[in-house]
Amino acid sequence: MKWHEMRSEEVMNSINTDADSGLTSKEVQKREQKFGYNELKEADRPSAILVFLSQFKDFMVLVLLAATLISGLLGEYIDAIAIIAIVIVNGVLGFFQERKAEKSLEALKELSAPQVMVLRDGDWMRILSKELVPGDVVKFTNGDRIGADMRLIETKSLEVEESALTGESLPVQKSVQPIVAQDVGIGDLTNMVFMGTLVTRGSGIGIVVGTGMNTAMGQIADLLQNAETMDTPLQRRLEQLGKILIVVALFLTVLVVGIGVLQGHDIYNMFLAGVSLAVAAIPEGLPAIVTVALSLGVQRMIKQKSIVRKLPAVETLGCASVICSDKTGTLTQNKMTVTQVWSGDKLWNVSGAGYHPHGEFLHQDKVVDVPKTKTLQQILTFGTLCNSAGIVERDGQFILDGDPTEGALIVAAMKAGLKKESLLRNFEVVEEFPFDSTRKMMSVVVKDKAGKRFVVTKGAPDVLLGVSKSILWNERQEDLSSVYETKVKNAIESLASQALRTIAIAFKPLQEREKVNTSFEAEKELVFIGLQGMIDPPRPEVKQAVKECRDAGIKTVMITGDHIITAEAIAKQLNILPTNGKVMEGKDLSALTVEELEEIVDEVYVFARVSPEHKLKIVKALQNRGHIVAMTGDGVNDAPAIKAADIGISMGITGTDVAKEASSLVLVDDNFATIKSAIKEGRNIYENIRKFIRYLLASNVGEILVMLFAMLLALPLPLVPIQILWVNLVTDGLPAMALGLDQPEGDLMKRKPRHPKEGVFARGLGWKVISRGFLIGIATLAAFMIVYYRNPDDLAYAQTIAFATLVMAQLIHVFDCRSEKSIFERNPFENLYLIGAVISSVLLLLVVIYYPPLQPIFHTIPILLRDWLLILGLSAIPTFLLAGSLLTRKSTKTMV
Ligand code: ATP
Repeated sequence: MKWHEMRSEEVMNSINTDADSGLTSKEVQKREQKFGYNELKEADRPSAILVFLSQFKDFMVLVLLAATLISGLLGEYIDAIAIIAIVIVNGVLGFFQERKAEKSLEALKELSAPQVMVLRDGDWMRILSKELVPGDVVKFTNGDRIGADMRLIETKSLEVEESALTGESLPVQKSVQPIVAQDVGIGDLTNMVFMGTLVTRGSGIGIVVGTGMNTAMGQIADLLQNAETMDTPLQRRLEQLGKILIVVALFLTVLVVGIGVLQGHDIYNMFLAGVSLAVAAIPEGLPAIVTVALSLGVQRMIKQKSIVRKLPAVETLGCASVICSDKTGTLTQNKMTVTQVWSGDKLWNVSGAGYHPHGEFLHQDKVVDVPKTKTLQQILTFGTLCNSAGIVERDGQFILDGDPTEGALIVAAMKAGLKKESLLRNFEVVEEFPFDSTRKMMSVVVKDKAGKRFVVTKGAPDVLLGVSKSILWNERQEDLSSVYETKVKNAIESLASQALRTIAIAFKPLQEREKVNTSFEAEKELVFIGLQGMIDPPRPEVKQAVKECRDAGIKTVMITGDHIITAEAIAKQLNILPTNGKVMEGKDLSALTVEELEEIVDEVYVFARVSPEHKLKIVKALQNRGHIVAMTGDGVNDAPAIKAADIGISMGITGTDVAKEASSLVLVDDNFATIKSAIKEGRNIYENIRKFIRYLLASNVGEILVMLFAMLLALPLPLVPIQILWVNLVTDGLPAMALGLDQPEGDLMKRKPRHPKEGVFARGLGWKVISRGFLIGIATLAAFMIVYYRNPDDLAYAQTIAFATLVMAQLIHVFDCRSEKSIFERNPFENLYLIGAVISSVLLLLVVIYYPPLQPIFHTIPILLRDWLLILGLSAIPTFLLAGSLLTRKSTKTMV
């Protein structure tokens, strides 16, 4: 028999599992060994050797190797071996860089791997989806992605979208009934759910019957191997820039070689020097270093509780100019406590805090006996019956299982001695229409002991008012006239203005044969009973984060399904809403076109009573105004807006799989302050990338110019090929990496957001590269000329001096690269990686100059102490000459 033909019990028997306690850990272990991980096989990756070899496929490196080979054949063994060694070391470094980038991207994928709720050893727990084994009992709800193929054993209004398998985008209704028909296709298997499909409504429980390649998805897995390319805009721009730089570097190299040959230099020597220069000057490793810097930044972000799902988001984060944030759970703590209950113009205060079910009901400061106050008891009872959450006691702690809003209602009832378990003994819930943020209501059909059925609905009070026909007023049912309506509205406003989230309760008795098949049928002609108001305190760190964002030129907008007055009150507490800022409601938003919204959107700081559909409109209007929008969301319906936003953000705790998959950033702690930290990190990563681009390119300009000028002045070669390659490897590599780990500048979050179209060389970076590079070239040449003319017979000594000056000039310049303004702005000892990189570069320089066995290889001669003064003096010029001029400019400015 096939799974779908069996009854639930038969499924359990044949797969040997138990719906009440799940598998035991021992059994899970056994099955894991037998069936392996619940994963689809991925396409084979290039082997380590191939990745290593690919480091040498660069055209110029091949030319260099060929040239070296020739020099080896001509008898220049030492040079040849040294150059090849350096090229290999370079390749090894490139290989590790690439591996590191790949590994950290891989680790990221793991972090955002989907999880599932599974029943094992009698407890529900969250595990990674890949750990599922056949026989596991799995629970899923609205917004979850199904982790394996399962036979359903329980469904509540369950609908699943299976387009990934069937191509059919309309959701399929599911049930547990066995299917007996012959030859059924996947689309007809309504009592099964399949790996990779999406729960769009309701909830269900299933038993895993297929995992990994043994699923319907596994059978078509080969078709799904379309790896996404994740290059960031900057990486793409750098690749283009790289191509231009190759041409420029080649042109200049040819120029150097051409002039050198014309000046009478040996063709072969010039050729080798030229090729070495080209290899050194072409920043072929730049995109790889950028990836490493990005992924190291991403790892720092993980420590600050944000997970980047798409690398380009790191860059876009730095450009964000508006953050649209959900209220509940992101700006607030989502720790709800009912503090007031209202019905028929009576108000009860509720004491106690958190989910601890101890507290009292007070009316006009007097404790009331709830069982004697019928309406109050009814509100509390109904709040618990129409509720899918639970409160469990564990070691004296009361723990919420489910939605905090619903938990608060259960706790309020418990304070009056009304426990969910005992209530469910008297009332049976026979039908459930789950909450959704578009309807803003939830309903159940309940049957009491006498067999009488009635609907209980809870939801947003203004919405419930709209579907109510009558009202319970002092225990009497009255028509809901406009007088009563006004009274209820006043009560809602009074609770909301205290920043309370309000939930209304209503009910409706059903006739004996009356059928309720849809939420629409349930939620009409209700009897309104009353309100429960709950506090949800703001997260303490949010106010400061909102301020920091404002200082950084980023506007915070609150988007919430909550009541307009509640939203406004909280927005004021958090300083999100300025005095002249506007608050807008979902229904007004519906009446506007995107274009109309665009006109006013800049003035609006709070959107209240919105549905997820409105979010897309808000994103579009803001984007049309030229904003770079970060938008948060957690539900299935939020996905389109999250996708459309420049930075889609989902919630790690409350977010559905659908929202997470659509997002580029996941907040592990659902906290708004984490968005701020991520933006700060995003800005810092970008600035650090700019820092090392500046450093590397200025160094390269210096290297090329010293050779070019020397040739133009008919001088001998100031640097020998191996020295050029050494500079490329040591001086350019280590400090550049360390710059990628630099601390942010103090005013990083005081600057306006960066324009997303901003070029690599914007904000004066191009000028800095050329001017500093030019000066490095000149300083090196000067050092060379001074020593060469002092003793023209000792060319190698002059070359050693030039070599040391070039290295030292770069190592001093690296500190200047840390600031957009001036080297004096920053404490040079702050970045310990950089200090380490600079010290090791200097030590390596001293080793190749003073360690005799290396001297013939690097063509170096020990430098005399007095010449170090010359070297240090000249190498400081490129950095301090211009830094000094900036400083004077700054001080004259302040004097004026
Ligand atoms: P956001 O998370 O976007 O800040 P929200 O969580 O307050 O907003 P929704 O969850 O859409 O927004 O809730 C909207 C309204 O629906 C609430 O103000 C409340 O009155 C009502 N509501 C919320 N949760 C439930 C629920 N579980 N059952 C019934 N009504 C609910």
